[in-house]
Amino acid sequence: MEITEVKVRLADDNTERLRGFCTVTLDREFVVRDIKIIEGANGLFVAMPSRKVTDHCPKCHGKNHLRARYCNDCGAPLPGQRTPDLSETGSKLHVDVAHPINSECRSRFQKAILEAFEAERRRVGQVGEASSPQENVRRAPESEGSIQEEHPPQKSFGEGIV
Ligand SMILES: [Zn+2]
Repeated sequence: MEITEVKVRLADDNTERLRGFCTVTLDREFVVRDIKIIEGANGLFVAMPSRKVTDHCPKCHGKNHLRARYCNDCGAPLPGQRTPDLSETGSKLHVDVAHPINSECRSRFQKAILEAFEAERRRVGQVGEASSPQENVRRAPESEGSIQEEHPPQKSFGEGIV
């Protein structure tokens, strides 16, 4: 499988952890949208498109997000803790709707997406807030496709981010 196109849209608010969105085309004939580029504690990482996990209202069987306190359909109060291991990070609240199933493919995705992201940032003149203007001038000639290699993202696709 070949990643034939990556389109990146930078996030408007650069103070948030969400730095951008992207759309990836595979083999020129399959598109995955809503991939997110997130600034994590260990650098940038890529989050695959995800959806909120839902369960059903005991009264009317309407679908509700696990954090919902009242049913969206009938308004009945819902039990507070509806999953056994609802962690503080909220990772069980979301599930990826499309994702690589091995680490080789995951790193190919991450590399292609982060390269496109850095290229887009350079194109619009947006630079990392940690580096000074002088540093950016110095780094520019050697930075083609290599910036993200200096800070290998360590988080995986698995964590769901809203
Ligand atoms: Zn209901």
